[in-house]
Amino acid sequence: MKLYCPNCKTEFPPLDVNVADNLAYCRRCGEAFAISKLLGHASTRREPLPDPVTNIPKGCWYHETMDGWTAGATTRSPLAFFIVPFMCVWSGGSLGGIYGSQILHGKFNLVMSLFGLPFLVGTIFIGGMAAMTIAGKVVLTVRGNELTVFTGVWGIGWRRKVTIEASSRLYSNRSNFHYPGSSPSNITIEGPKSIRFGSGLSFPRQIFITQLLRYKFNLPDQGI
Ligand SMILES: [Zn+2]
Repeated sequence: MKLYCPNCKTEFPPLDVNVADNLAYCRRCGEAFAISKLLGHASTRREPLPDPVTNIPKGCWYHETMDGWTAGATTRSPLAFFIVPFMCVWSGGSLGGIYGSQILHGKFNLVMSLFGLPFLVGTIFIGGMAAMTIAGKVVLTVRGNELTVFTGVWGIGWRRKVTIEASSRLYSNRSNFHYPGSSPSNITIEGPKSIRFGSGLSFPRQIFITQLLRYKFNLPDQGI
């Protein structure tokens, strides 16, 4: 059975249909639809977006602040149960063997040390990914039309600021990086300054953040 986006009539690829969560996600529109509704309604009329805050998925949060609001989502993932042991074995084995033995014997070996560099870089990369699956989060802080996006773990991470204007575009884009269980898209805002974020978030969490931004800033659906 095929499902089509009620907005743009694009067929949902199987990857973007999540039957368990009753959600189908349209990449072009950057919007999710309840599968039950798609099946029940022949009508393709757009309904106004409900306030996403009335239905916050697990792993997401929203608070009003003195001068705006803040919301976020965790990038926690069951993948941690795989990636952490993997990192211990892989990094422990390679780095322990290459650098550990040098430290142990108190002898520096240049060739071995250079040979180990890719493993060191790999460990930093996998370590970052492991940290994100254990305790990572994406946090939005909004003051007026100024949006700050933080991506990281325990306050260590990447903080970016953009201004959202009426002409800004909000949509999903294929992400260069994702892992099993996370959405294959990111959230893209194109404006005076553009930003891409939200890779590594699960499908429902990414949809929540996208819909919240769309709702709060009254941004229309945009094709890619
Ligand atoms: Zn669509």
